[in-house]
Amino acid sequence: MDMAKLKLIVNTKARKVLFAEAGKDFIDFLIYLLSLPIATAVGILTGGNLNPVVGSFSHIYESLKKLPESFLQPNQAKNSLLNPRAPVYATGIPLMLSYDNFRSQKSYICSGCYNYMADVPNLNCFSCKGKVNRVMSYVPPSPANYSLGPVEDGFLKGLATYIVMDNLEFMPMSTEIFLSLLKKSDVKDLDSLEVDLGVEEGLRLLKLSLESKTILTSLYFGDAKLVTYMVMDNSEFRPMSTKDFVTLFNNLRLEKEVTELEEMVVDFGTDEVRKLLKTSMENKTVLTSVFLGKIGEQKRS
Ligand SMILES: [Zn+2]
Repeated sequence: MDMAKLKLIVNTKARKVLFAEAGKDFIDFLIYLLSLPIATAVGILTGGNLNPVVGSFSHIYESLKKLPESFLQPNQAKNSLLNPRAPVYATGIPLMLSYDNFRSQKSYICSGCYNYMADVPNLNCFSCKGKVNRVMSYVPPSPANYSLGPVEDGFLKGLATYIVMDNLEFMPMSTEIFLSLLKKSDVKDLDSLEVDLGVEEGLRLLKLSLESKTILTSLYFGDAKLVTYMVMDNSEFRPMSTKDFVTLFNNLRLEKEVTELEEMVVDFGTDEVRKLLKTSMENKTVLTSVFLGKIGEQKRS
């Protein structure tokens, strides 16, 4: 399967996707995206033809990829870090990139007791002190492997219809939900259009899901806007355009508040980790956002 269908309910005047009707194929794809570890998602995007930027995670990913294996602890494998084990698998997900990455990651089981497994060969077994060095192969949960009755590919049972919101929130379709969503909009501007999602759209959807909250709108009305946030003196995050940023910087220069660069040691605690995680999914100037915001705060107080 390499296509998923989506019926978009759009407000043509506001150029906005109100919601979409989707079948099992598209929702299976969303669940698959949810199961991806960040490194796998970034790996998929950087391997595709898209501009290989997912916030700042692509920089972390590329840096680790370039780092010689000799810098890693001997009990770590770079391939495992770049292709972490994903928690859920199913066959036949539309638009899904192959299991090749997963297959290329080897797992090992204890050759003595068969009770312990590892990502790195030749570790010592907890239980029998044998070596965990026997290579294991993966059995994907495909219908062909299942002998207890008929099952379909994917995660969900067939035939149900779902409603998908612009932010990818989804729920089973009901007339009630459908009508209440329609009532919220000016019906005369509404239109519905059926679209096919190919692999390219699937990749863009994955990328947008890491950057945006209006994913379906961005996917179909183009110009996906990257939201850049500024951390203000009061630690508030504020979306900001590049133009705003330049203006702010020039204003600060005029006020002689910024006359030269200075080096500063900052504490990195739970709050900063939270901020960094948030900004790194949304913006390309993570450290500036997290730490220069903090410096401003200290100067004011
Ligand atoms: Zn053992």
